[in-house]
Amino acid sequence: MVYDLIIIGGGPAGLSAAIYALRARLNIVLIEKMAVGGQIALADNIENYPGFPSLSGIELMQKFEEHAKGLGLNIIYDEIKDITDDGEYKTLIGVNESYQARTVIITVGASPKRLNIPGEREFTGRGVSYCATCDGPFFKDEDIAVIGGGDSALKEANYLTRIVKSVVLIHRRKEFRAEKIIQERLNNAKNITMELEHSPISINGNGTKTVESISIENVKTKERKTIPVKGVFIFIGIKPQTSFLKNIEKDQDGFIKTDHYTLMTSMPGVFCAGDAHSKKLLQVATAVGEGALAATSAEEFVCDTC
Ligand code: NDP
Repeated sequence: MVYDLIIIGGGPAGLSAAIYALRARLNIVLIEKMAVGGQIALADNIENYPGFPSLSGIELMQKFEEHAKGLGLNIIYDEIKDITDDGEYKTLIGVNESYQARTVIITVGASPKRLNIPGEREFTGRGVSYCATCDGPFFKDEDIAVIGGGDSALKEANYLTRIVKSVVLIHRRKEFRAEKIIQERLNNAKNITMELEHSPISINGNGTKTVESISIENVKTKERKTIPVKGVFIFIGIKPQTSFLKNIEKDQDGFIKTDHYTLMTSMPGVFCAGDAHSKKLLQVATAVGEGALAATSAEEFVCDTC
């Protein structure tokens, strides 16, 4: 079977692309390796997606999925390992089987960046976490640290103040990248302290069982100190999940390069949308817009080449 379009990834960009492609009556399938929803499904609260003043990431993604399935979306669970260009068709090599399509939209998103400091890997799942909604409740009545100064770190720190005993926010600069409204909200929390202009240098524990403390260093004076905490939540940005794509051009950080007008990648007929594609603003709203654009470009490509 040769599809008109295969979408790889079921986050906001992939589901948006699916809705547009199904309404264009393309013969499509969406391939997802784990669960539909993407990284945003882990967000405790989304307040800037127009039309929905406040809802959780999972609630928003359920609405996207219901919308796409209502139009007849078929989802296959498989992990794509490579894409080859066979002229008229692209072949997608999956772990379970191979698939063929005239066009492809890559919406594989991004995963959390690691600090790469001693203790991080050893204590992941035993005190080190990259998801506040998943793991926050395990630290009820405990002191924890949050690392980062972007939207994720400040939003998740704010959420964690409502669950845990205290939060120390550790950020390497004095200024935050996060939206001003998110910064303002932290001022209302009584159980948060800040260690600005400090970088984490190690996460320390009791053998390899549980986290006991985090050691940090002043970026200017190089003075070090150790803060007792039971959990460390790391939100220092994301990296695109594109290492499996060997035949498609990427930038030095692994983000897929595209033509800005059509979102076509270096492989003709293959498009990219969402967080795997470099841009200034990584949001549900921008991912959705790109999904729509990529699906429309794919539709034109199918019509032009059939
Ligand atoms: P960002 O890249 O925006 O921020 C990463 C933060 O981590 C920065 O403050 C950065 O510091 C710090 N950092 C990076 N590397 C290190 C390191 N090695 N050691 C210590 N600190 C480090 O990432 P986010 O995950 O916050 O956000 C990713 C994207 O998702 C953004 O576009 C964001 O806007 C979006 N987002 C939007 C949300 C929303 O509700 N609107 C919610 C969550 C994310 P420095 O500032 O010094 O570089």
